[in-house]
Amino acid sequence: MRFQILTLFPDALRALAGYSIIGRAIESGLLLLTATDIRAFTVDRHGTADDYQFGGGPGMVLKPEPVFAAVDDALAAIPDAERSATPVVLTSPQGHTLNQAIVDEFAAAPGLIIICGHYAGVDERIRAGLITHEVSIGDYVLTGGELAALVIIDAVSRFVPGVVGSAENVREDSITSGLLQHPLYTRPAEFRGQAVPEILRSGNHAEIERWRRRQSLERTLRMRPDLLDTAPLTNSDRAYLAGLGWNDDAA
Ligand code: SAH
Repeated sequence: MRFQILTLFPDALRALAGYSIIGRAIESGLLLLTATDIRAFTVDRHGTADDYQFGGGPGMVLKPEPVFAAVDDALAAIPDAERSATPVVLTSPQGHTLNQAIVDEFAAAPGLIIICGHYAGVDERIRAGLITHEVSIGDYVLTGGELAALVIIDAVSRFVPGVVGSAENVREDSITSGLLQHPLYTRPAEFRGQAVPEILRSGNHAEIERWRRRQSLERTLRMRPDLLDTAPLTNSDRAYLAGLGWNDDAA
């Protein structure tokens, strides 16, 4: 999986590359991460990448020429067969909020080109003429797209085969599975007056699975009842949730 990030601050992308799961995946070649300085594609000798707004207003706007040139350059580095399948993503608070469906779509692509805005945002012609996707990481505004790019890269990379140890595990996580995950415990069995639930130490796998499923349903009902509308629920899940007071509108 190839991530090509276009930014005014390439150093900001280093945060993810150097350690842990993503760092190892880059080292082993499963992931390729390049951070390209948009300023390298400016046309004037001052390297101007941003400019004042037509019509007036606060903040600088990322100019179209260097961004179009940087995207052309990024596309040229991609093998012909993969080019048209590579999304060109604009990070933006105006985009679709990143979710599992978008993560799955991106993970199935050969790579991503991600444009990081800064200051007031980007010239509208970038939005209209260059990108295939506009993605937000949540309903708040960041100073720049770099952290959003890192969030996208991290979330997508988990679904690239081999990046996370067990491919099955990532599908069992909260949200991805459609529910919130059950509670997790490790040693010690007793800590500051809190004991690990006896069932988890019973060795009875069927009972453990049942307990985990119920915990997962209970948590989802309490914290994210909206997920239950689309979660893959069995009849016994539904019965259990009904016992907890869940009102299944769909039924
Ligand atoms: N004036 C713009 C916001 C600019 S914020 C507007 O009102 O729409 C500056 C840059 O930070 C954006 O270009 C984008 O790249 C990034 N950014 C800010 N908030 C973001 C969010 N929630 N998700 C993804 N990127 C965001």
